[in-house]
Amino acid sequence: MPAVALMLLAAALTTAPAWALYRGPLFDAHLHYNVEAWDGQAGPHPPADVVERMRRNGVRAIIANSRPNAGTLALAGSPLAREAGVQVVPFVRLYRDRADYDNWFRDESIYRMVLDLLERGTPAGPYRGIGEFHLYDSANARQPVARKLMALAEARQLAVLAHVDDAAVDLLMAAAPSGGARLRLIWAHSGIGGASPARVDQLLARYPLLMGELSYRPGLTCDEGRLCPQWRALLLKYPGRFMLGSDTWINARWDQYDALMTGYRTWLADLPVDVAQKLAWGNGAALFGLRAP
Ligand SMILES: [Zn+2]
Repeated sequence: MPAVALMLLAAALTTAPAWALYRGPLFDAHLHYNVEAWDGQAGPHPPADVVERMRRNGVRAIIANSRPNAGTLALAGSPLAREAGVQVVPFVRLYRDRADYDNWFRDESIYRMVLDLLERGTPAGPYRGIGEFHLYDSANARQPVARKLMALAEARQLAVLAHVDDAAVDLLMAAAPSGGARLRLIWAHSGIGGASPARVDQLLARYPLLMGELSYRPGLTCDEGRLCPQWRALLLKYPGRFMLGSDTWINARWDQYDALMTGYRTWLADLPVDVAQKLAWGNGAALFGLRAP
């Protein structure tokens, strides 16, 4: 067979045609089940609703966290999630209410709340991480409670889901006793402010356990929801370091859940199947030791 034909055949085997969607299971690595979605009484998105959205989109595992923490417990204990084959990876969120967004890094009562919740665990087993938390001013990564939480995460091998800029990734890593070598930091949005792919590359190279989550990432997709060339190159360079997420921070994101997952499946189909499988499922499953779906 001529070399060109071989190359075409190889491309056909490893890359889905442009009109196909990636069909494998998904791990939603950035999911909130906040009080607005469901307050335990009513609300537009009770567990049956959100679990059905996961089921019909092939989402077979989630990082669950919520403001306040009750939403996470509701999903972790939901027989509906179990029946739908959705594995729940619970994280402790640092927020009891919106006032905590701007204060968690210096509020000792939040540190005590985290210790207490870790002690209690969830119906789906122990908490596996801390977050999502935000730093709107990266310098607050140096505040005492932020430093204590990074040390705690490292000591207990908890992942940390951080919505921060690239400077704060360095500062949070520096706050961990290992200097970042052993901190399992998941960078929510991989730089929502648009840190350049070269800068993301630099951070991934510097910190071996740093993972990037891709919701809201500016510059990720270009025409027709396909990957932009620079980001495609970065995902191919670090196939083991990225994950997908819905970021259901407001109820509108639950309404968009189908479209968000279809969006991921659209560009996942542009990647070699083994890379797509890692981003869609394998990286998160390996991080938390999940069962095959
Ligand atoms: Zn979020």
